[in-house]
Amino acid sequence: MPPTVGVLALQGDVREHLAALTGLGIEAVTVRRPEELAAVDGLVLPGGESTTMAKLLRTFELMEPLRERVGRGLPVFGTCAGMILLADRVRDGAAGQETVGGLDVTVRRNAFGRQVDSFEADLHVGGLDEPVHAVFIRAPWVEEVGGGVEVLAQAAEHPVAVRQGRLLATSFHPEVGGDGRLHRLFLDLVG
Ligand code: GLN
Repeated sequence: MPPTVGVLALQGDVREHLAALTGLGIEAVTVRRPEELAAVDGLVLPGGESTTMAKLLRTFELMEPLRERVGRGLPVFGTCAGMILLADRVRDGAAGQETVGGLDVTVRRNAFGRQVDSFEADLHVGGLDEPVHAVFIRAPWVEEVGGGVEVLAQAAEHPVAVRQGRLLATSFHPEVGGDGRLHRLFLDLVG
């Protein structure tokens, strides 16, 4: 049976991820409830606002079930705010900002600063032949990585795409622009 991949649909660019996954022939579903989480083989945490999403994860009683599934090896792809949600440690977070965690990295929120709030760059991504046109929007970067974390791409001398086991995270938005290769990499982790 082909895998079912969920997109956390509490806030953020849910539709773009659903479209990217559907474009690769995958059955993609929205996840807002613990029962929906329990039914997926992989999950995308979209871009948006990480503080809002973290609060909504509590409101929707998804935080603990999600932590538990990540702990049991659920493949998860976090983009931008989703990368922040996956990170074990956050700098420049809101007071008391929670994360799901699981990815042994320290990220800095809004790291690229005001002048370059949003920008685009062609990045070499490990495992892909041609560069990826990456769109950054108030993006985090990674400041520290644990031993099991593989850095797949860098910008401004900081990791902006990382993989650890079945967790994949990018500072940028691969769901924007119609390049399905990062989603394909994620689907390889889903199996
Ligand atoms: N700056 C946002 C945050 O901290 C992330 C931005 C994005 O996902 N495009 O959550």
